[in-house]
Amino acid sequence: MSELRFDNQTVVVTGAGGGLGKAYALFFASRGANVVVNDLGVSHKGEGKSGKAADVVVEEIRAAGGRAVANYDSVENGDAIIETAIKAFGRIDILLNNAGILRDISFKNMKDADWDLINRVHTYGAYKCARAAWPHFRKQKFGRVINTASAAGLFGSFGQANYSAAKLGQVGFTETLAKEGAKYNIIANVIAPIAASRMTATVMPPDVLENLKPDWVVPLVAALVHSSNTTETGGIYEVGGGHVAKLRWERAKGALLKTDDSLTPGAIARKWNDVNDFSQPEYPTGPADFMAFLEDGLKTPSAQP
Ligand code: NAD
Repeated sequence: MSELRFDNQTVVVTGAGGGLGKAYALFFASRGANVVVNDLGVSHKGEGKSGKAADVVVEEIRAAGGRAVANYDSVENGDAIIETAIKAFGRIDILLNNAGILRDISFKNMKDADWDLINRVHTYGAYKCARAAWPHFRKQKFGRVINTASAAGLFGSFGQANYSAAKLGQVGFTETLAKEGAKYNIIANVIAPIAASRMTATVMPPDVLENLKPDWVVPLVAALVHSSNTTETGGIYEVGGGHVAKLRWERAKGALLKTDDSLTPGAIARKWNDVNDFSQPEYPTGPADFMAFLEDGLKTPSAQP
């Protein structure tokens, strides 16, 4: 298979001054794309501010003969980031919502500031960048978005209630963008990556980190945002260390109870095995599935015990 190219396309990578974002930026530039290297240059807790992180990556791309410009705005100011792409390259084709920080603290001790900052960067930031890119995507009938979730969001993680909420939010956000974008050839997917970066440096041993290069996350992202992908959208992917797998929701057999006075806590308790029976799962993909499922069930209501 010939290598995937991104010539004449513009890729915006948020948080591209280090970690995963830097790996994306270097890769897409090496494959012919114009790259906007966005980075606010903050600590992993979101403190400080510096243009250096983005500048270093831009210099590296240019030194290798690639095309890149820096942007130092916070993702909360997504309009300015997309504007940088339009001013420098005249277009925006691919948006990688990657910037992120942590404010880990037990829920007992969590303050509004910990909650708000995480949600401003991850939720509001991803929204602002995608919202600013959206009219361009629709107009040109082409757009590709990758949002970044986390295992913490999918499964929960001690000390990360704020981050978990924001990261699972990326899943619902992506699913909706995929549905609204379909008509305009806008493809949106979400990844839950695992990679060695300053974010993971303190929580994993060096030998494990050695196998978790950010470079191992890049190929999946590249395949998903390439113009040849016109069907894989709304997907949730776990990716890192050479492992790539899609995740999806699973519905148990469940119990359909009569909607009358017999629908009591006790009636549900008696059906608890069915509620939890995953032996013949279904894989719902939208709210309409639930309504169809209810309508089918209502045609053949099961008698309450
Ligand atoms: P990183 O800390 O190495 O890089 C994040 C970059 O984002 C930094 O350069 C930082 O300056 C920048 N940034 C932070 N806030 C910003 C803002 N408001 N505006 C613009 N830039 C900002 O982290 P990473 O490990 O490369 O993480 C990248 C993404 O992947 C994050 O969204 C993170 O939550 C997610 N993630 C990473 C892992 C992992 O194993 N590394 C796991 C799950 C999810």
